[in-house]
Amino acid sequence: MHKSGFVNIIGFPNTGKSTLMNSLVGERLSIITYKPQTTRHRILGIINESNFQIIFSDTPGIINPLYPMQKIMMQYVEKSLEDADIILLITEIGKLEYLPIFNELKKKNVPIIILINKIDKIGIKCRENILYHGIDYWHKLFPNSEILPISALKKTNQDLLMNKIIALLSEHPPYYPKEFLSNRSKRFFVNEIIREKIFFLYKKEIPYSVEINTVLFKKEKTFIDILSYIYVERSSQKGILIGNRGETLKKLKFFSIRSIESFLRKKIKLKLHVKICPNWRYDYKKLKFFGY
Ligand code: GDP
Ligand code: MG
Repeated sequence: MHKSGFVNIIGFPNTGKSTLMNSLVGERLSIITYKPQTTRHRILGIINESNFQIIFSDTPGIINPLYPMQKIMMQYVEKSLEDADIILLITEIGKLEYLPIFNELKKKNVPIIILINKIDKIGIKCRENILYHGIDYWHKLFPNSEILPISALKKTNQDLLMNKIIALLSEHPPYYPKEFLSNRSKRFFVNEIIREKIFFLYKKEIPYSVEINTVLFKKEKTFIDILSYIYVERSSQKGILIGNRGETLKKLKFFSIRSIESFLRKKIKLKLHVKICPNWRYDYKKLKFFGY
């Protein structure tokens, strides 16, 4: 018997969705950062075993639509509610959250597993009491759902979670060829890694004003030749990105190369070009060009 299904991870920004998916799938597929809303795309990570295939999607988090990009992100969230076989609703220990979207969730007949994440943040002594309140709260909201305290970071209760997911999966042949790891191309991950480094290296609005497009990804004999464009909205941002005598861009390149090489497990040559593309965030046509 073969089981297969779509497992969608939803929750507030920063609750640990990307961390959980990455630790479950075991590959660095989705970008992780302490700043919210860095996962803009819907990413699929796939676990393949001989008798099951689980397709995870990591959504941008539940947010309010303020401008076009966030509207599009919200559509990903809503879509993820539609095509899920199982939903993992991830929350944090000590936080009792409520959102209108929970009503939609209740109406669906999809099994929900509520994950109370980051239990490692609370000492063992206090943990039980805080968990007691949390479990009580979530049980009242979703009486038919399983509730599981976890630590995505320390992989606590990960086996238990996997067993619960597998138990809830239906009999189905694999949806994707078994050798697939992700539905996203390697270029996409190159973009994501560079964007992650920009988050670590630059402050303020810079990370939110850039978009990356890898225009060349060519396998040579001993390395992969990569050219990525970094789009900013204004020339002042271009200056900040490049830095004094190109120092900051050099750092960005250095850190990006290290991560991309370890992700691809291949040597690379990387060129980064900074380009100006005014107001890309507000323009639907341009957003389409970047793949949203
Ligand atoms: P997302 O926005 O929901 O995708 O959240 P991320 O996976 O990007 O995680 C946000 C932050 O929470 C990061 O700094 C993670 O390292 C941290 N984090 C995630 N899971 C845990 C956990 O189990 N324990 C602790 N202490 N931190 C965690
Ligand atoms: Mg994320």
